[in-house]
Amino acid sequence: MEIAVSSEIRLTELLHSMGICAEAVLVTVNDELAPETATAKKGDKVEIIFYKHVPPLLSQQNLRGHWKKAKHRKSCDRCKSKPVAYLPNFRSHLCRKHFLNLFEKTVKKTVRAHRMLNKNERIGIGVSGGKDSFALLHVLSRIRKSLPFELFALTIDEGIPGYRDKTIENACKRCKELEVKQHLYSFQEECGTTIMDIAKKKENLCSYCGVLRRRILNSKARELKLDKIAIAHNLDDIAQTAMLNMIRNEPLRLARFNSPLVADSRMVPRIRPLRDIREKEIATYAFLMGHEFNSLCCPYSKNSLRRAVRHELNFLEDQYPGTKSRIASGFDTLQDMVHKSIQKENLSMKSCSECGEPSSANLCMGCKMLKEII
Ligand SMILES: [Zn+2]
Ligand SMILES: [Zn+2]
Repeated sequence: MEIAVSSEIRLTELLHSMGICAEAVLVTVNDELAPETATAKKGDKVEIIFYKHVPPLLSQQNLRGHWKKAKHRKSCDRCKSKPVAYLPNFRSHLCRKHFLNLFEKTVKKTVRAHRMLNKNERIGIGVSGGKDSFALLHVLSRIRKSLPFELFALTIDEGIPGYRDKTIENACKRCKELEVKQHLYSFQEECGTTIMDIAKKKENLCSYCGVLRRRILNSKARELKLDKIAIAHNLDDIAQTAMLNMIRNEPLRLARFNSPLVADSRMVPRIRPLRDIREKEIATYAFLMGHEFNSLCCPYSKNSLRRAVRHELNFLEDQYPGTKSRIASGFDTLQDMVHKSIQKENLSMKSCSECGEPSSANLCMGCKMLKEII
């Protein structure tokens, strides 16, 4: 969205006056990325980039709390260059170079703290072509320089014409540039159906899509003899999942989030190197690394509960910076507690009678879903 500014205005004020949540957009002034604390002058070209389809609207209100007090700095906190981002959690303005440094340092710290990567491992990444997997692909291919491991990109075509074909094109381009070997799979070939077909019969498409995608990722990762699958989940995703668990009253799912209740060698371990980074910072990193944002969105994602939760959390983060990270930490603590309290002796992993994938019931969730549809 492009705006011509008629008089001098601070970007935070501009966003709030339009009812736009700063937490869910990037802003450029005269084509350069700018922190929201910056001011736009008369005649400046201001562009607001919504990195998720629908404008995340706040009810129009006056600036208050954190943003009112946040003072703009003309230079980066660490050097004299112009800042491109403001990080409310650290009350810090950073230039391009220092933002990229901090981003990569944070990912390395997460990777070390959770022992996610080891030398010479074969690591798969689910690459969809969106900004999150683009950022993950970039950051891991950079870490690869100091800690040698092999990277493989796994791209899944769910069969959403006009949307997925474009993002797959993006994904292929990036993998080539970064010299990462890419493997393409499709719902049609692996499951005998596409999301478009499922949409004709079912409403809660996001859960169908998620279950089938996970099943393909796991079985293909095993086929490729991968040690781990890296998922581009960010801090926002984790805070949303935590809230969704509460809203849906699913404590067992909560316990399974980081590691399965019963260990099974057929389940390829999943790692989340971006788990400590906000979606907004990932969008900033992706932008600085040349990701092309477009207004395309998954046409089927409109009614999910996750979207409502996402909106509320963005609103809370905008008013009370640090909310998402506090929710995610609480989620970690709860997961450990639930994990320890579950009697695991009676739990066992079976094999799905249809596809042979590991499953807690006779039929895995993927096959159960496919039986309902086909
Ligand atoms: Zn700097
Ligand atoms: Zn199955």
